[in-house]
Amino acid sequence: MLTLPGFVDAHCHAFQRALRGRGHGGDFWAWRDEMIALAGSLSVAEIRSEYLEVYRELRANGYTAVGEFHYLGHEEAKAAADAADEAGIAFVCLYACYLRGGIPRFRQDSVAVYLRELEALRDAGIRVGVAPHSVRACPADALTELGRYAAEHELPLHVHADEQPREIEECLAEHGLRPIELLARSGCLGPSSTVVHATHADGGELDLLRDTGSRICVCPTTEANLGDGFLPVARVCHREIGMCIGSDSNVRIDPLEELRELEGIARRQTGKRGVISVDALLSFGADEGAAALGLDVWPDAVVDLEHPQLRGVDEAAVYEALLFSCTGDVLRKTSDQ
Ligand SMILES: [Zn+2]
Repeated sequence: MLTLPGFVDAHCHAFQRALRGRGHGGDFWAWRDEMIALAGSLSVAEIRSEYLEVYRELRANGYTAVGEFHYLGHEEAKAAADAADEAGIAFVCLYACYLRGGIPRFRQDSVAVYLRELEALRDAGIRVGVAPHSVRACPADALTELGRYAAEHELPLHVHADEQPREIEECLAEHGLRPIELLARSGCLGPSSTVVHATHADGGELDLLRDTGSRICVCPTTEANLGDGFLPVARVCHREIGMCIGSDSNVRIDPLEELRELEGIARRQTGKRGVISVDALLSFGADEGAAALGLDVWPDAVVDLEHPQLRGVDEAAVYEALLFSCTGDVLRKTSDQ
């Protein structure tokens, strides 16, 4: 057995796991219609029981902490936290502010209402982050207020941006700015900020992430599944922007596959191997994710060195073999958890 810092799932929508085997065809926006129909149908009790199973699956595959990017309601956030407790996974509720679009269940009437709900979760002992859902769901003045609140309260801030070209076109039409430019102008970027996806970020937007010390949460299996595109990984690495990983829609739950895909994208883009070092990949999978969630401590994961997938691998090569040749089931809970 070999102990590692546990992998951190910095971006999860647990309910979307139920779309496995569904929502085939169309494009991102067609998938989103199915996702919204599912989101509207779930009871609090269903969320409690379904999230428990998803968090158990995360745990069984080496994730020991999860940032649940949650937009299904306030009581439902507590149910998610209870499910995480039962599954034994460290939990941060990235509670989404959603002010326009979507369905009523997603939305709050104002930033003030949102902040009251967020504070109620904190008062209930739940670790939280501020999560303006996106520049689609939050107008500019709300982004400014949320950026200020997160800074004042030293909370992580997570936001989706640049996942799809249409989102960029709409943002340019409304604000004359690209999404990450708008986030910068609204005070939403900084060392505690994580931009989820950034798939279509241009050079200027990547510069803004670098200059503000913001991170990118990349979710390669979901981004592939939804036809989002490729993160410009080599350009992100060149700027030394921190990255972390998320299981996002949970079409797959496997941190090793997310990291392998991340490096795989970079290899396809550059024609070179080893674009990201093994150490850096492991750090993206664990420490960077924990930092993105504001977690100082989280449980370890254990590698089963006797697992058939590692048969014949030299001890010195275990980390590389883990990343490039194994699935998450070589990872185990530590015995005391
Ligand atoms: Zn997401």
